[in-house]
Amino acid sequence: MTPGPTPVPPEVLLAQAQPMIHHRTPKFSEILAKASEDLKYIFSTKNDVLTFACSGTGVMESAVVNLFSAGDKVIVCSNGKFGQRFDQLAAAYGLNAISLEYDWDTVVEPADIARELKANPDIKGVLVVQSETSTGVLNDVKAIGEIVKDHQAVLVVDSITGVGAVELRTDDWHLDVVMTGSQKGLMLPPGLACVSVSDKAWAAVEKSTLPKFYFSWTKGRKALAKSTTPFTPPVSLIIGLGEALTMMREEGLEDIIKRHSKLALATRLGAEAMGLKLFAPANGRGSAVTPVWVPENIDGKELVKKMSAKYGITIAGGQEHLAGKIFRIGHLGYFDQFDILTTLAGLEMCLTEMGYGFEAGSGVRAAEEVFMGLK
Ligand SMILES: *Cc1c(COP(=O)(O)O)cnc(C)c1O
Repeated sequence: MTPGPTPVPPEVLLAQAQPMIHHRTPKFSEILAKASEDLKYIFSTKNDVLTFACSGTGVMESAVVNLFSAGDKVIVCSNGKFGQRFDQLAAAYGLNAISLEYDWDTVVEPADIARELKANPDIKGVLVVQSETSTGVLNDVKAIGEIVKDHQAVLVVDSITGVGAVELRTDDWHLDVVMTGSQKGLMLPPGLACVSVSDKAWAAVEKSTLPKFYFSWTKGRKALAKSTTPFTPPVSLIIGLGEALTMMREEGLEDIIKRHSKLALATRLGAEAMGLKLFAPANGRGSAVTPVWVPENIDGKELVKKMSAKYGITIAGGQEHLAGKIFRIGHLGYFDQFDILTTLAGLEMCLTEMGYGFEAGSGVRAAEEVFMGLK
């Protein structure tokens, strides 16, 4: 029950267990071509979606090296650990970053981006995280897209825990670059990351002079046009991706998003019914993960340990300054209502044993009411 790595469906595990095939074969090309088309569906885009052998951070880095040149001015929005990662990447590659920093329990203000773009017409990019996994905060990338679309800057969106969990309309919302990672909503093991690139972003790629080789989008696009990859791909993971995307197509994107919002609602109402306080603000709560404040006088790190050691339920703790202060229940990917009910039940037992006073059963009951359609 963490926001990644997430559970892998048996269908996907079995697909990945097939004997190895060579990647320069019609069979592999067919699998890659179909998966790449299905990714467009999941990203709601007509743009090419490139797939790389790396974790999510790899495609974040690929966006920086493919779009920009040293000294380029960019806006980096940061209200959590992954926004900070964009800041670190910008610094590592010598970009001139205007950092818009926010408290971790608040959303990125689109008006701040509008103001900076107006004051700095030479800005080349805006980097933002849609679903901040460290805090559960959902940033309004639709509103940001509306602002950036008329400016020369390209909009780069880390939707690594957004894709397949929350509404995301790459083309309609003018999101130039959107990325995700395999171990999140795509229900795969870690090791793949995907990125969609708009025409506006491809124009920026032409001008970029930062060094790149393995993560060159241009190489990736040329190969994809021939239904292949520039280098040896992680064949088993791509086969698994094909299977996962087939499952996602069968469920349908809209229903996937609905399922996630119901799981998130049940988790939130369950936690609140237990007297717990939610971390993310009411105007920005995503459906990938629900962070909750650890109640006073309870050891948050011990709680996470106990959930796992005693009840076999893996939840996540807080990151950075929130370590021990919040815990995070992931519900992104291959989860259903009973995963949430089990987790809330385990949480109730742990908290009861740790001396937290509340009405046992209240959290589970509130979640059941959501799943029965009563709330
Ligand atoms: C998981 C995640 C990443 C990438 O992390 P990796 O460990 O490199 O896969 C980036 N951004 C967000 C929002 C994430 O949730």
